[in-house]
Amino acid sequence: MLSLKNVSKIYQNGSEVTHALNDVSFDIEPNKVTVILGPSGSGKSTTLNILGGMDRPTSGTVSYNGNLINTESDGQLTNYRRDIVGFVFQFYNLISNLTVSENVAISAQLKGNKYQEMTEKYLDKVGLSKRKNNFPDQLSGGEMQRVSIARALAKSPKVLLCDEPTGALDTETSQRVFKILKSSKNQDTAVVIVTHNPLVAPIADRVIHIKDGHLDKIINNPSPLEVE
Ligand code: ADP
Ligand code: ADP
Repeated sequence: MLSLKNVSKIYQNGSEVTHALNDVSFDIEPNKVTVILGPSGSGKSTTLNILGGMDRPTSGTVSYNGNLINTESDGQLTNYRRDIVGFVFQFYNLISNLTVSENVAISAQLKGNKYQEMTEKYLDKVGLSKRKNNFPDQLSGGEMQRVSIARALAKSPKVLLCDEPTGALDTETSQRVFKILKSSKNQDTAVVIVTHNPLVAPIADRVIHIKDGHLDKIINNPSPLEVE
């Protein structure tokens, strides 16, 4: 459904040229958790930014259900980010002066009857119904991340992109967050996780190893040892 073909990304700052990605090709499939692994600086964030329409490749193509994303106008890319992609970040990016419910509602622009029904549905999914009227600074890190997942899911995204979603969480909380992410995949939705956390192993259907901007290997149905 979401395909990168021969994607390269070159950053140029003055005379300094960085080849962040070189000829990377792979597909992201629905109903799967795809984990992107690689050392710091290997190109994981660049890959995620390109998948999410935040950045364009220097060469190569990105397509979603056969439509080229990388050739779209800025406005079309904005629509793609809004309608197709959900984002989960390491530091949650919640809005501090909005309640938990309001944070969940905002990205899907839920209003009226839908507001109540959908915010409750997704807060229930992440086990935080009781926190709906709290503000982010009244929550633990794990709770904030669960709110941010509920916010992403309220958009019914086709692709859920997660950048180090457990980077600031302890072991037990990380496991809970990974379980919720696993339960978020379905026939319509692909989950993509960039992480260094080996606790992701039990939920990984597919692992993409990136090394120095190259696709190193892709492993389907990896054993836990292959997720490191
Ligand atoms: P992470 O590895 O946690 O994803 P980042 O993606 O923020 O970290 O950064 C990865 C690397 O990219 C770092 O070495 C950082 O210095 C470099 N980097 C990020 N943004 C820029 C930029 N605008 N200009 C130059 N280097 C950058
Ligand atoms: P990772 O997420 O695996 O840490 P990145 O995708 O952030 O890797 O970075 C890949 C390479 O591209 C690194 O060498 C990094 O320094 C460089 N880089 C990332 N973003 C920028 C940027 N905006 N400007 C210049 N160089 C960048």
